[in-house]
Formats: sequence, C-alpha cells, structure tokens
Amino acid sequence: MRAIGNWVGGKAVAGTSGRTAPVYDPARGVQTAEVTLASADEVDTAVTSAVEASGEWAGWPSSRRAALLFRLRELLDAHRGDLAAIVTREHGKVLADAQGEVARGVENVEFACGIPHLLEGSHSSDVATGVDVHTVLQPLGVVAGITPFNFPVMVPLWMMANALACGNAFVLKPSEKDPSASLVLAELVQRAGFPDGVLNVVQGDAAAVDALLTHPGIDAVPFVGSTAVALHVYETGTRHGKRVQALGGAKNHMVVLPDADVEAAADAAVSAAYGSAGERCMAISVVVTVGPVADPLLDAIAKRIPDVVVGPGAEPASMMGPLITPAHRERVRSYVEGAPDEGARVVVDGSAPDGPGFFVGCSLLDDVKPGMRAYDDEIFGPVLGVVRVATFDEAVALVNANPYGNGVALFTRDGGAARRFEREVEVGMVGINVPIPVPVASHSFGGWKSSLFGDSPIYGPEGIRFYTRPKVVTTRWPDPATSVIDLGFPTNR
Ligand code: NAD
Repeated sequence: MRAIGNWVGGKAVAGTSGRTAPVYDPARGVQTAEVTLASADEVDTAVTSAVEASGEWAGWPSSRRAALLFRLRELLDAHRGDLAAIVTREHGKVLADAQGEVARGVENVEFACGIPHLLEGSHSSDVATGVDVHTVLQPLGVVAGITPFNFPVMVPLWMMANALACGNAFVLKPSEKDPSASLVLAELVQRAGFPDGVLNVVQGDAAAVDALLTHPGIDAVPFVGSTAVALHVYETGTRHGKRVQALGGAKNHMVVLPDADVEAAADAAVSAAYGSAGERCMAISVVVTVGPVADPLLDAIAKRIPDVVVGPGAEPASMMGPLITPAHRERVRSYVEGAPDEGARVVVDGSAPDGPGFFVGCSLLDDVKPGMRAYDDEIFGPVLGVVRVATFDEAVALVNANPYGNGVALFTRDGGAARRFEREVEVGMVGINVPIPVPVASHSFGGWKSSLFGDSPIYGPEGIRFYTRPKVVTTRWPDPATSVIDLGFPTNR
C-alpha cells in the first residue's frame, strides 16, 4: 500500500508514528493509499525546520520573494492538469470542478505576486517639528495552516500564497482524507526555489492539530473546516497566544423573490446545490421561496434533477461525483430518510447508494422548517431543502436567525429589494443573482457568526493584514542647534 508521508526541510520524509488512516478512491470505493498520522515529535521536527528557516526568509526583499512567487505561478500553471487529476482521484469531484478549484487557488498566488505593493506602509512627514512617522508591516514568524478535505489544493493556496509572500515560514496540515495534493504543492514550491524549511507539510489528524496549536514555535493559525473543530482551534490556539482565524461550516440560503426569472433561478439552484455533490462550504443547501414563486420553482428544480449525470469524476460526461467516505454517505442518506418523520416532503429521493463507489444522487425536500435536522444541520451532501415563506421580511428574518453566516444569494429583478437585502442580511458573502459568491483573490473571503471565529477574513487584503503585524516608527532628526533637555511628556510641538 502506498504510504503518504510528510515534507520537511525541503524534502519528502516518511512518517514514523506507526499510526495511519486510509485514503480512498471514492469513485471506485477502494483504498488506494495510507496516510501517516504525525506524532507530536514529528510536528516538532517540522516546526523547528520552519523556525530555523523563518529568520532569513523574513529578511529577504519583498521583490525577491515576488520573483519566486511568479515562478511558483508558472509551475502551478504547468501542473494544473496533474493537480486536478489528483483531486478527482482522492476527493471524487468531477474533473472540470477540480480544474476550477486549481484555478481559484492559483489566483491567490497571482495576487501574492504583487507583494511589494501589498506590503506598502504609510508615512507622515512633520507630525511635530522635525518628527516623521512611518508604519511597516512585518511577518509574524511561523504560520500553521490546517485545511479541510473539500478543497485540497485551493484552501492550502488561500493560506500559503499570502503567508509566504509576507515573509513567514509555513507548516501545512492538510486533510487526512485527500493528502496527496499537498506533497505536489510542496514539491512545486521547492522547484520554484523557495529555501528549504520555508514550507513544510505534516500529515495527521487531531493529534497533529493539537500539537501545532500548543507549539511555542507557531505564531499564527489559519484554519478552515467544520464549526465544532473551528471553535476548538480558535479557543486552543488563542489560549496559547497565537493569532487565529478559524473558518467553520455553513448553511447557505438562496432567497427567490416572486419577480425572479424562475428558469434561471432553477438552473442556479441545481448548480449550486449539487455541484461537487454539495461538499462545498458555499453550496446552496436551502432555497427560500417568497410567496407564489414556490410551486413553479420547485417544479423547475425537480424537472432538472434527472439531467444531472452522477458518475466517476474522471469521466467527461459526469456532472456530480461521489461523496468522500462511506460513513459520510450514510450520514447524508439519513437526512433524506428522516425527513418525512420531521414533517418535510421528499420530492426527489436520490439517497439510495449506487455502485461500489460512495455515490448518492440528488435529493429535493419541500416544506423544510427550522427545528428539523435537515434544516438545522450542515448536511454537506446533495440534499436541497425548500423553505416556503410569505414575504421578503420573513425571508431575511429566517436567514438572520440561522447560526451560520457564510454565503447567501438573492434572486430578483428588483434593484430596491436587492439593495435592502444587501444592507440587512447578516451574512459575510452575498450574491445578487449569483448563487456561489466566492470573492475573487483580490477581495477577502469570510463568513459571519458560526462560520468564522476570529476577526479577519482569509486571503486578499485581509489576508495580508492577518499574516503581518504593523510597527510604527517615530523618528526625530533634530537640528543640533535647537536640541535641548526636556523631561516633560512628548507633545506635538
Ligand atoms: P473537519 O473539521 O472535519 O476537518 C478540518 C481539519 O481539521 C482537518 O485537517 C482535520 O484533520 C482536522 N480535524 C478534524 N477533527 C479534528 C479535531 N477533533 N481536533 C483537531 N483537528 C481536527 O472538516 P472537513 O470535513 O475536512 O471539511 C468540511 C467542513 O469544512 C464543512 O463543515 C465545511 O463547511 C467546512 N469548510 C468551510 C469553509 C469556509 O471557508 N468556511 C471552506 C471549506 C470547508
């Protein structure tokens, strides 16, 4: 069985803990590799390598770091196909979707190539007589990034690109469910010319995460994953003195007003609910119909579901691949099976397993309400619930009462309603006639409420702020002729 290990000090290193986890090809339902799960000692070796590399790296001119990022961008570009194929093989998403993931990841490296400009400080001349002030942004030291299974290339690049560009060393702890892409990323970083130890990868589970969260060599932790783990990471990391941003789960609503184009809204709902088998933190999992749009929209969605071709991600005809593990498939099925007992109506039941791979089809539930498991939980599978409300105000109140606040979409032709929605909705990323409003790399990504613990969104300009700390330097170059002794508190004379 192929063993997937770590990357430390510029080279691949076998895991030595003796603990492993299975890695599957979810489309075939077979184990293809085992990933070693790092011990606290192995984590310590990787962090030590990063700490040793970080001092010199932080002192590199930003233009020199940018030159390496340009090279990394070219290498990633040349390896888009390999990376996407690995994602499809271990995660299961269809190849076109995997290519999209790689493209959105590479965008972050392209953004980081502008690091000399992004690290611009500020300067004020003559704030007092002979006194100038300038602000510089300095790296934090060593950053540990912990990533989820559903974007094994894009989310590591969300973090790595800006963290490295700002002059930090980086330790990546990828998901143990699809770990192979992380080692390809490490190899490309090496080939681009980054010094040994600036990027390290430790494979592992909760034990490796906890070792990172408590390690004195780690200065900051970006995390992306489920809400319960995000909260644990935020609380543990901050208690150990680290800067932490922990992005959690989601329950994204798509509100459809009566004036919306029903056919376009149905296309958007089907694409955003069932794309990547619903395993996206920005997937739409609830459609909120306002007034009379409910029946025609439900019919239009149901009519499209048979056209969604479910199959192995590597087959060009497939539109939706399998789920990540058999256990996750059983969990997703339980929401459809349990829906009638909770008072929801199963309009389309796609939950029966199909083949040895971890496949399910698309399911559609009507009359879903808060208090039902199918509404309250993040299902993270191809199950779309419809909640019927009477008014715009009820729709906004429903969204705002939800504990998550990652993404939301409004479908309408009414500009006034769209402006009100944008202002009143308590969600971090809003799409107006855009079902999956993932910001481009030059803006920042982040939800509100239980979808993000910590103050700053990830990547983009906020990412640069997260990976640096400001230092303010006040300088006086007195004219020797005017210099006097003055024991008073400094005033702006
Ligand atoms: P997860 O929380 O199970 O795992 C995320 C990471 O945490 C992995 O590296 C895992 O090894 C580690 N981990 C798991 N359990 C842990 C524990 N008890 N203690 C410490 N570390 C632990 O998430 P997942 O299943 O890999 O990913 C899916 C989840 O991620 C969904 O909830 C999804 O919404 C969320 N997600 C959020 C965003 C976002 O931007 N908000 C993006 C992608 C995914």
